[in-house]
Amino acid sequence: MTRDPRYDILFEPLKIGPVTAPNRFYQVPHCNGMGRIYPNAMVGMRGMKAEGGWGIVCTEQCDFYASGDASPYAETNMWDGGDEIYLGRMCEEVHKHGSLAGIELVHNGHDTPNLYSREIPIGPMHRPMNWSLAPIQARAMDKQDIRDYRRAHRQAAIRARDIGFDMVIVYAGHDGTVPSHFLAKRHNQRTDEYGGSLENRLRLFRELLEEAKDAVGGDIAVTVRFAVDEMMGPDGLEWHAEGREAVEMLAELPDLWDVNVSDWDNDSKTSRFAPEGYQEEYVTFVKQVTTKPVSTVGRYTSPDAMVSAIKRGIVDLIGAARPSIADPFLPRKVEEGRIDDIRECIGCNVCVGWTQMTAPARCTQNPTFSEEWRKDWHPETLPPGDENEHVLIVGAGPAGLEAARAAGLRGYRVTLAEAEEKLGGRVTRESALPGLSAWARVRDYRVGQIQKMTNVEIYRASRLSAEQVLELGADHVAVATGATWRRDGYGRHLTSPVPGSGAAHVLTPDDILAGLRPPGGKVLIFDDDHYYMASVIAELLSTTGYEVNLATPLATIGAWMVNTLEQGANQERLLESGVTLMPNTTLLAVEAGQVSLHDSVRGHDTEHKADSVILVTSRTPEDGLFHAVQQALEATPATGVRTLRRIGDCQAPGIIATAVYEGHRYARELGEEVDPVDVPFRRERHVIEPAKV
Ligand code: ADP
Ligand code: SF4
Repeated sequence: MTRDPRYDILFEPLKIGPVTAPNRFYQVPHCNGMGRIYPNAMVGMRGMKAEGGWGIVCTEQCDFYASGDASPYAETNMWDGGDEIYLGRMCEEVHKHGSLAGIELVHNGHDTPNLYSREIPIGPMHRPMNWSLAPIQARAMDKQDIRDYRRAHRQAAIRARDIGFDMVIVYAGHDGTVPSHFLAKRHNQRTDEYGGSLENRLRLFRELLEEAKDAVGGDIAVTVRFAVDEMMGPDGLEWHAEGREAVEMLAELPDLWDVNVSDWDNDSKTSRFAPEGYQEEYVTFVKQVTTKPVSTVGRYTSPDAMVSAIKRGIVDLIGAARPSIADPFLPRKVEEGRIDDIRECIGCNVCVGWTQMTAPARCTQNPTFSEEWRKDWHPETLPPGDENEHVLIVGAGPAGLEAARAAGLRGYRVTLAEAEEKLGGRVTRESALPGLSAWARVRDYRVGQIQKMTNVEIYRASRLSAEQVLELGADHVAVATGATWRRDGYGRHLTSPVPGSGAAHVLTPDDILAGLRPPGGKVLIFDDDHYYMASVIAELLSTTGYEVNLATPLATIGAWMVNTLEQGANQERLLESGVTLMPNTTLLAVEAGQVSLHDSVRGHDTEHKADSVILVTSRTPEDGLFHAVQQALEATPATGVRTLRRIGDCQAPGIIATAVYEGHRYARELGEEVDPVDVPFRRERHVIEPAKV
């Protein structure tokens, strides 16, 4: 197939200072939880983006100076000579495919605790840091500090060029770098030439840019990443006020303006809180005030939206982090006229969540992400399997669908049996909840791919028993029958059943997802899960007329969503929807018309009126079929079934990304002898210095 001419514009080369990007697909810097800690894995991942057609592939933030040590996060760094070993390898991998390699120079200023380097953090002012509320203060940079910092930045630009990068990014974004701290009035109350007027607050950024240009500008592109709006009204930069004025003041200085909103929570909003292209309204002015190329992000996954953003004169390049994680081959697929094959990001921020936990990022849509090097997993190709072997997969949720897709791609004869008429399991049910419609892409991508395969047969409305499984005579059976929410409240905080939880007016998320609604008008939701489920059910019920109280034993509502950058937006949404929030509250007992609660701040128990209760605590695998088949096989080993596995939530309830990964892994490992005691991937090794003599 060939490319649809309406997408031609996406494949026009673009000059960025002295270098030329081969197309308009720009993988902006993004954290990935690998960086300098797992450098081979990072290199493998970046190389894959270039192979998939991203015309510019950047590092994550790269700290260039021990006083701006990004530990404990797994970013790249370049403090001295020596880091070229892995950064240079990244450039090689990117260049192999004709793409440009970019590097984002960062100093996180008063946001970085310098846990490893033990240097005193620096910033425009003396102030405590927000990071983890660590008992650490940054000190105000004096003139010598500013000179040292500028010197380190200039040196880093030179080092980046010498390592092989084509583009160096001067970074004033996300309210998380020294130049952005200097720019913000709330962080900068200096009275010298670096404080006060916008011109003064912008001085350091200008100096960094000018010095980087002076040092390497003739050889490589010197670009900026700049937040034009901090989404806090006049307390921060606004696109129509100082954000715009700052761009006007530096208009022709950088070779590219990569613009966005800040902070990171605002920039990387999930699909629950912002649609594709949501940053356009903030950045549209930029092209009107500079002749330099402009780029922005906004979770663009549709080539039509990309073309439109360019044709409407908003940008020249399409910046993408998450869409390039979900589908490293997105550009190639557009180029080859395979739009249906694009694996669209669902905007869930699980990738961000794992990065925040300083672990290699995982992606709900792309199970091969972070596994490119350590498992040799390619996102598009799998080694051929034995086409004569028959694989039966029971259950078409995310685990079963991905197992069927990947096994089908390997050439196995696959039967996928699903109890319901609709495919997708929990994804189909959960995508009907408020704000989660994009999650259906997990199902739609896989069903779309499977339907093109002649070797995969789907049986809908087919709830299989153990006997039927055996009758089908498959060589390999995978049971992917999911999990159910517990009805007794057992979870992290309650470790014995809640008295009264067996009553008819006590429901679980499964009931709500099945269409049941709680009796009476006053509902108490008890959240011991701390992710999205309790909150989206609260929103659903509150906006359909219920009086909803959301109780949780923790001090924070939806506490894990701090990692997906959603905690603040989620809480705001709940309050706007009229939900009453009850943090520090544990459920003790359910009675008719009321519940007993324990308030851990005041230390007392209370009675609270509630016509019904929804328990969102933990889940149990639906593994009855697995055990029944296992027992039957033990009783009659000669049935022809050679391997039996359970995958996804049926093995261990988890997030959708885990189910997809386990389904994929199952299909990859078909036909392999896997010893569970062996390390299941290639490990990164540290180089140990010889003993001192
Ligand atoms: P996962 O996230 O692990 O994929 P889900 O709960 O989303 O789990 O999907 C499990 C799917 O398995 C559901 O669609 C469910 O209808 C289906 N299922 C459960 N039991 C059977 C069975 N005996 N036969 C066929 N399908 C089943
Ligand atoms: Fe998109 Fe979610 Fe994958 Fe991140 S984890 S790239 S948000 S699908």
